Amino acid sequence: DNRISHIASSIRVIPDFPKPGIMFHDITTLLLDTKAFKDTIDLFVERYRDQKINVVAGVEARGFIFGPPIALAIGAKFVPMRKPKKLPGEVISEEYSLEYGTDKMEMHVGAVQPGERAIIIDDLIATGGTLNAAIRLLERVGVEVVECACVIELAELKGRDKLGDNPVFVLISST
Ligand code: 5GP
Repeated sequence: DNRISHIASSIRVIPDFPKPGIMFHDITTLLLDTKAFKDTIDLFVERYRDQKINVVAGVEARGFIFGPPIALAIGAKFVPMRKPKKLPGEVISEEYSLEYGTDKMEMHVGAVQPGERAIIIDDLIATGGTLNAAIRLLERVGVEVVECACVIELAELKGRDKLGDNPVFVLISST
């Protein structure tokens, strides 16, 4: 698909952000390119529109950029998966480990129902820890996670291996 190479070229890589040694993939330049942004959304919509998806779960923060236009186009609800203490209502939460220490992901109780079919959207999969927490959170409440979808995968970090049998669909695999 010739849309992919254009999307790839619209993503900027910034060395040593947020700390030395990290090559940060910056998707804000993709958002400035109206064709790249539209093609990104279209590619996900084409993949999921006939899959009877009820829930698009977006991971804070960049899953909040790509998730809602996909949800609207496929007729699914959008559910934010947030950092701790951001959601005002009753939440369920899932802890996950970072390079140093742990973090938590939270979702509103009642946002999803048992038996619903979900996709999880984020901009990038690195180690897979974030998506793994999102999958656990949804599965705990009886939701079927059909697939995780990201714009970019940092393939060398083998994040897929952390997700067991849960499939990941990515537009761009980066080394
Ligand atoms: P993981 O949990 O897979 O190690 O890290 C993925 C999470 O960190 C995602 O939520 C993603 O937004 C963020 N992240 C890690 N590295 C990068 C990067 O290079 N670029 C962007 N845009 N996000 C990153």
